Amino acid sequence: MTRYFSDKYKALTPYVPGEQPQDKQYIKLNTNESPFPPSPMAVEMASQEAGKLQLYSDPECRVLVQAAAETLGIAENKILFTNGSDEILNFAFMAFCDAEHPAVFPDITYGFYPVFAKLNGVPYREIPLKDDFTVDPEDYIGAGGTVFLANPNAPTGRALPLSEIERIVAGNPDNIVVIDEAYVDFGGESAVPLTEKYPNLLVTQTFSKSRSLAGGRLGMGIACPELIGDLNTVKYSTNPYNVNRMTMAAGIGALRDKAYFESNIREILRVRAWTTKSLESLGFTVLPSTANFVFVKSDRIGGEELYLRLKERGILIRHFTLPRIREFNRITIGSGGQMRDFIEAVRGILSETALDSVQDQK
Ligand code: PMP
Repeated sequence: MTRYFSDKYKALTPYVPGEQPQDKQYIKLNTNESPFPPSPMAVEMASQEAGKLQLYSDPECRVLVQAAAETLGIAENKILFTNGSDEILNFAFMAFCDAEHPAVFPDITYGFYPVFAKLNGVPYREIPLKDDFTVDPEDYIGAGGTVFLANPNAPTGRALPLSEIERIVAGNPDNIVVIDEAYVDFGGESAVPLTEKYPNLLVTQTFSKSRSLAGGRLGMGIACPELIGDLNTVKYSTNPYNVNRMTMAAGIGALRDKAYFESNIREILRVRAWTTKSLESLGFTVLPSTANFVFVKSDRIGGEELYLRLKERGILIRHFTLPRIREFNRITIGSGGQMRDFIEAVRGILSETALDSVQDQK
């Protein structure tokens, strides 16, 4: 750290993204990307835009907003696009949190929330998940701050039903409730329809997972027009051209190609069920998942050891060091072939571990 670095940020510990190693080709099951390429329509539309990169992008993202409004069946003035959903989440911390409106979120959730809170100098309160890693909605009624809930939650994959989300939104009329729906397309119930009824609800979604555009960086917020107005004040005060031309075009293509989107989702759900069954037959505890990943633990091998041994074999999964989840790993659902390789590798590692312990006893 240099002596020039602002005091404001000296204590900041940045978010650590999942590894993106370039040294060799890994089977990447660590950052919840899609195993499928973007829709051919998205690729075609993005490449057509490449020849127009001398021009700024449309700061209002009009054509993209129209496509999203049609897909979601909501008004255009309820949508704001951002550079990944990380950006809309940061905008929400900037716009709706301060000393009187501290951030409130679970102890085990998306690791960026506390970082955004610290970046923006906002106090925050973490509420422990229940022992089964679910959110207790009662904890969030009259939360006394801006609520951030990932639903389905990450890294647990567990989701609350829409009725409970509604209870939380209705139970905080004087505060904003942000529902982060990064993984909602994999079986969750979206709170988007509730934005018609509640002026204090912001729903965020991403194109990074179900629409195969993680590298394009496209996210969105859905809320009543007044909240979108506040978020636009923040956006136009930071980066009006936050969505680049090629990504905007790719987003339009991804929304128009509904058949591709739906068939990819079906395949992920099929492979998720197969992976869950296979891991359970190897003795793993697998939390019920509504996302494109599973959160798992084994009594036969520690979380960190499994992560390291898989890495040696060219397979990346996500290990966390928080004490409460240290023995767990989060495994992204890849293609059928990737998951077969993964299960074979786990089987091999478990038998090596069993052999090691027999030899230790001799
Ligand atoms: N929310 C949650 C819960 C996530 O896991 C992620 C992905 N890391 C994001 C938001 C942000 O995703 P992106 O910025 O790629 O839209």
